[in-house]
Amino acid sequence: MENQKTVLIVEDEKNIVDILRFNLQREHYRTIEAYDGEDGLNKARSENPDLILLDVMLPKMIGFDVCRTLRREGNNVPVIILTAREEETDKVLGLEIGADDYITKPFSMRELIARVGANIRRSAMVSAASAASAAEGAMPVSGELSINTDSHQVFRAGKAIDLTQREYELLTFLASHPNKVYSRVDLMEQVWNYGYVGDDVRTVDVTVRRLREKIEKDPANPAYILTRRGAGYYFSV
Ligand code: CA
Repeated sequence: MENQKTVLIVEDEKNIVDILRFNLQREHYRTIEAYDGEDGLNKARSENPDLILLDVMLPKMIGFDVCRTLRREGNNVPVIILTAREEETDKVLGLEIGADDYITKPFSMRELIARVGANIRRSAMVSAASAASAAEGAMPVSGELSINTDSHQVFRAGKAIDLTQREYELLTFLASHPNKVYSRVDLMEQVWNYGYVGDDVRTVDVTVRRLREKIEKDPANPAYILTRRGAGYYFSV
């Protein structure tokens, strides 16, 4: 099924996993299961689920540590903590360590399915909004190319392009001096901050080539970063 969302269930009680799997699959979610915290963490990293249902009391690693570790790694997958009713402090602690929501056991399946859907939708909206606002804050530099110097992101026709730090620095340096030709030695000094160059100037050629492959529609026939034969490179506007 296209656009099918994946839910990772991290829970050591087999009967609860069975009920969750049955109900989620009936709602057309794909499910992955882990029966201890370590396996849950590994599957969260490797399977890239759209949401995690995370029990607190788990063998090997408790749910809070799984969630805390993911957040520390920059993983923003929505996490719903499954907590027993008597563990009231779990709610507070769970939200403090970066969980998005919690649900107390025994839970109504209808409520759980509603929370799963709401959290997946919210996370999709947040990531779309942050991409859109970065594109909106980007300064058009030439043609379809725009740069957001706050977020260090480059866009072509509103679509983010993934650049290395050096590629980004080379592009922004050339783009901030449009139509001015820089020799490879100049660029080594200005962008790489190398005093002595020599054969290292090849690094400039390689970086330009990789940059063209990423930002140009036709890298063999570039529109942005052009070569002035025998002189160097320049950004064309
Ligand atoms: Ca448990």
